[in-house]
Amino acid sequence: MEVKTFGVVGAGQMGNGIAQVAAASGLAVIMHDIRQEFVDRGVATIGKNLQRNVDKGKLAAADKDAILGRIKATTTLGDMAAADFVVEAASENEAIKFTIFENLEAICAPHVILASNTSSIPIGRIASHTKRPTQVIGMHFMNPVPVMKLVEVICGLATSLETLATTLALTKRMDKTPAQANDFPGFIANRILLPMINEAIFCLYHGVGAKEDIDTVMKLGMNHPMGPLALADLIGLDTCLAIMDTLHQGLGDSKYRPCPLLRQYVEAGWLGRKNGRGFYTYE
Ligand code: NAD
Repeated sequence: MEVKTFGVVGAGQMGNGIAQVAAASGLAVIMHDIRQEFVDRGVATIGKNLQRNVDKGKLAAADKDAILGRIKATTTLGDMAAADFVVEAASENEAIKFTIFENLEAICAPHVILASNTSSIPIGRIASHTKRPTQVIGMHFMNPVPVMKLVEVICGLATSLETLATTLALTKRMDKTPAQANDFPGFIANRILLPMINEAIFCLYHGVGAKEDIDTVMKLGMNHPMGPLALADLIGLDTCLAIMDTLHQGLGDSKYRPCPLLRQYVEAGWLGRKNGRGFYTYE
């Protein structure tokens, strides 16, 4: 199926990045969030990212305007009726995602594929909130979306081969490289990454090292581009905790228990870069 109009639900750090790469690939994009200020922030972030590329000479100013011109921002979920492929990138919370999929089921035409950018929630569980489980798939972009090449594509038990083929083609059209994973909590990326980050937080919690030293060990010793605590701040500590909870509950193994320090930070409202305070502080 050829996709012409691409819907993105959620205009946060992942949603606006997905909208940007979709529009840059020539698709008409509809980007939705629940409040006007969130939608405006998403559009402003895309504008800033594109302007940076213009300043570096990587993008013509006219192309920046053309990309922005292809993005329609809205607080009305019903506008997704015009989309023929929708990616949900709302907060990593099952209840929120289930409601969005139930609403999209009613809004979108029967042929439309409904994808989720979830980091960890099983696709089959999300698909059960629609009447089209063959057309529900995981399309897991990496952060920051305009920079990172990978999209993890996850089929639920019922996902059809046609849905998979359309999603793989769309991924390549957005200049990304797909890798396929099966439908278990955390898939491949976060089954491996998040326990590593969680262990780094345990190192801080148990006083094994200071945050700077933990990050330096992993950067200079393991050649990671960022330390795990700085990466947790980039991902969002609320998202990290939600993923660890999903791994812990879904796999039933205590090795996935979230570090109490992570929970304490999230409960205190320290969410990382997105609100200026996590393991580090940000302007
Ligand atoms: P975020 O907090 O930056 O943005 C989430 C957005 O969803 C917010 O703007 C919020 O207003 C919006 N939202 C909440 N309820 C909504 C609803 N009912 N309808 C529409 N929008 C709604 O979070 P994020 O980092 O962009 O994460 C979004 C999704 O992407 C999550 O599922 C997360 O697990 C996944 N993800 C995150 C990363 C990462 O590094 N942060 C990487 C890959 C995937």
